[in-house]
Amino acid sequence: MTTTALTRLTQLVTNDPSLGEGPLGLIQDAAVVIDGDRIAWVGPSSKAPATDNAVDASGRSALPGFVDSHSHLVFGGDRTQEFNARMSGRAYEAGGIRTTVAATRAATDEQLSANVAHYLAEALRQGTTTFETKSGYGLTVEDEARALRIAGEHTDEVTYLGAHIVSPDYADDPAGYVDLVTGPMLDACAPHARWIDVFCEKGAFDGDQARAILTAGKRRGLLPRIHANQLSYGPGVQLGVELDAASADHCTHLTDADVDALANSATVATLLPGAEFSTRATWPDARRLLDAGATVALSTDCNPGSSFTSSMPFCIALAVRDMRMTPDEAVWAATAGGAQALRRTDVGRITPGARADLTLLDAPSHVHLAYRPGVPLVSGVWRKGVRVA
Ligand SMILES: [Zn+2]
Repeated sequence: MTTTALTRLTQLVTNDPSLGEGPLGLIQDAAVVIDGDRIAWVGPSSKAPATDNAVDASGRSALPGFVDSHSHLVFGGDRTQEFNARMSGRAYEAGGIRTTVAATRAATDEQLSANVAHYLAEALRQGTTTFETKSGYGLTVEDEARALRIAGEHTDEVTYLGAHIVSPDYADDPAGYVDLVTGPMLDACAPHARWIDVFCEKGAFDGDQARAILTAGKRRGLLPRIHANQLSYGPGVQLGVELDAASADHCTHLTDADVDALANSATVATLLPGAEFSTRATWPDARRLLDAGATVALSTDCNPGSSFTSSMPFCIALAVRDMRMTPDEAVWAATAGGAQALRRTDVGRITPGARADLTLLDAPSHVHLAYRPGVPLVSGVWRKGVRVA
């Protein structure tokens, strides 16, 4: 196998405290050796072993490829007008999802797949090398299974979200829709997904419904995650912790008991600042979660309605500026935190044996991701050892 070294990196984020300084395991004047699809060696540039190829990365820094653990990319249509209206003073409601459901049902397989490929390529150019994505805009047995099949052509991290909203076809029979989601739809979808998710929120699914949905999914071997406490206080976070969800996502409205529950569990609090940005909503209090000892991840929530960004650097900048995370915490949350939210140990770190996913910045430090917001600093991306951008 071919070996490649990135040498003379001004700074390297490993996310392994045993390899360098602080929680990020920072190494100054560093080198990384890639062997095939794996990281083979990291350390000071002066001690790097000989390799087949070398990239002189002087003046630049590297960090693990971003792990975006929450997106909704299998969709048709566009919601420019809704965004424009909202920015002109109208409040966001979960019902906007119905617009995308109609457009998604009307789209061909080819159109949906091309759309996923388009946004994945966009994310990759911005340094994202692991991507989760969900169904949730089909809301029929056939359309949900189709969405998962298409998602699975592009990523291994596929989530069944038949319980995004109650299907408009069941507007007068939400209990009947829960039966569908936990019955025939689950049967059709479980073979194509790793995860099950539910939007636990007023106007979507209440605590009892969410519990029934996640429990049914677990019985079929799917791992739970949950959209929790985004628009209001509610039972979502506690339910996620109770069911050992890998992640409770949004966490914008939390009681002290919710924060305690997260801090004393293996459930990651995944914060999605793109959603608050794009809906002019209250920011989640990352500082409160971190100070309590909860594990925090950052993700884009990329979707056409409430957060149409694929940019993890943008989310890092928001988290630092508006959610009181330090640059180190935000970078950890966007890499190792995301990996933990997907219960992965092979990504989100640059350590020997890890998958060779690496983002090179045209900047001397990862701090520049927040210090220089909106600037395209990503100058190279390696995924599974292959330079892809
Ligand atoms: Zn979401």
